[in-house]
Amino acid sequence: MVVRGVFRRCAWCGGKGAFFVSWFKKIDYCPTCGMSWKRNLQGFELGAATMGVFITFGSILVWMVIGGVAGAPLAVLLGVAAALAILLPIFGYPITYTVWFGVDLAMHTPESGDLEHAQARRSEHATK
Ligand SMILES: [Zn+2]
Repeated sequence: MVVRGVFRRCAWCGGKGAFFVSWFKKIDYCPTCGMSWKRNLQGFELGAATMGVFITFGSILVWMVIGGVAGAPLAVLLGVAAALAILLPIFGYPITYTVWFGVDLAMHTPESGDLEHAQARRSEHATK
């Protein structure tokens, strides 16, 4: 499920784009299977945001260590670190959500109520 998220697919059904209708715009549920990422609303977005922060800072740290060991000039080290700090959150934004959705589904297996809601949303979406 987490691997599906890495490719920006729905962790539950593998539907393309998951609950994102564009790179930054998301809806409350996956149009393919109807599963909502708002099942466990408390902390879901915090989890996704935290993961984004870890990825960004982790990449900068790895770059600084590799660049430092390789003897890159300070201006290059800082320039690339700044580029990573700006670009990673932009390009990683939907992926942190889809991956975190996989983690969330793995930690909280959907209950029958969640599945019924998903079914209802899916039929509702199909009639639109
Ligand atoms: Zn789905």
